[in-house]
Amino acid sequence: MAPTLNFDRLRSILVATVSQLPDRRTRPNRIYELADAALGAFAVFFVQSPSFLAHQRDMQRSQGQNNAESLFGLDQVPSDPQIRNLLDPIPPEQLAPPFWRVFEQLRDGDYLKAYQDHLGLWLCALDGTQYFSSQQIHCAQCTTRVVNGRTYYAHSLVAPLIVAPGENRVIALEPEFVRPQDGAEKQDCELRAAERWLKRNASRFPPGTLTLLGDDLYCHQPFCELVNAHHCHFAFTCKPDSHPALYQEVELLTKAGGVHEVTERRWNGQQHEVWRYRYATRVPLRADTQPLYVNWCEVTITAEATGELLYRNAWATDHALTESGLHDFVVAARTRWKSENENNNVLKNYGYHLDLRQLRPWPAVPGHGARHAQSVGVPGSHYPRSM
Ligand SMILES: [Zn+2]
Repeated sequence: MAPTLNFDRLRSILVATVSQLPDRRTRPNRIYELADAALGAFAVFFVQSPSFLAHQRDMQRSQGQNNAESLFGLDQVPSDPQIRNLLDPIPPEQLAPPFWRVFEQLRDGDYLKAYQDHLGLWLCALDGTQYFSSQQIHCAQCTTRVVNGRTYYAHSLVAPLIVAPGENRVIALEPEFVRPQDGAEKQDCELRAAERWLKRNASRFPPGTLTLLGDDLYCHQPFCELVNAHHCHFAFTCKPDSHPALYQEVELLTKAGGVHEVTERRWNGQQHEVWRYRYATRVPLRADTQPLYVNWCEVTITAEATGELLYRNAWATDHALTESGLHDFVVAARTRWKSENENNNVLKNYGYHLDLRQLRPWPAVPGHGARHAQSVGVPGSHYPRSM
């Protein structure tokens, strides 16, 4: 019987990790300070108040006790500078275990029933996210971009999330940071970070049970081949301008009757929609003597009454496409959106004070996409779209 996942259980997962963090300072026997710093940082996020620890120190001074101690198990309440000094030298991968322990306990405790049975078993959305950008402040871990003669420094990461259609909560998995790599000649990028994540973590999932979702950037032959080599599946957005060979083949197949078309009428709770699917099997992902052959599916959703275009997108996938499975496929592939809505915007807007931004805007489509319009154009994001 899996243990009940309550706050104390979750906290103990964190404590087990932070109590083993290497203390980089020269003074030994001060490990508890490091654990306090990590728990203190967690507490600030958990209660969604940047001044939480300052309050607790005031309470300790005036009343001789504080809530950080009783709620979070802090031995001593650290100050913000103490937290930074202690945690800044810790490599982020040292904080990976709690992500996996939480996922495993949710899974083994049967809390994730609604997240299973989609395209194999699990849907994992990959998303590049920027969480720091400056023209002045920078460090050795920064990614740099020169745009119009100006240098921009940024921190970004790939945030893999377990998502499911109809579920408004996402399960965050260990992130992979985009940062300079030892021995690498080229600057690090989102795709290389995703490759590292996949190589390190694919084996955590039984073969064939994980489907990666991602935007057009991921729809790149070497990455798709790597996904398959690690016994995972993919459903990636596939845009015409970045996949000319594929769309040329689709055009030829269309003339030859090799592109199947299916139209269905669906009620969205407010109006009838017309879903028009086009799909083809075994088309080359790129012009190559040894192309990766993928299956391709496009959906165009219009309002039945007005003909207004509500949504259009297309994906490349290694999953078999059948007429009866098209709707489920499209619904699953579209679940990638949850990374913006249920992860980035929650962290940004619900008191966490963490301003995450997608690295690239979504293809601009009116209608269904419009509720995500705040992410299109990405104010403040200095990255060119090719990143
Ligand atoms: Zn930096």
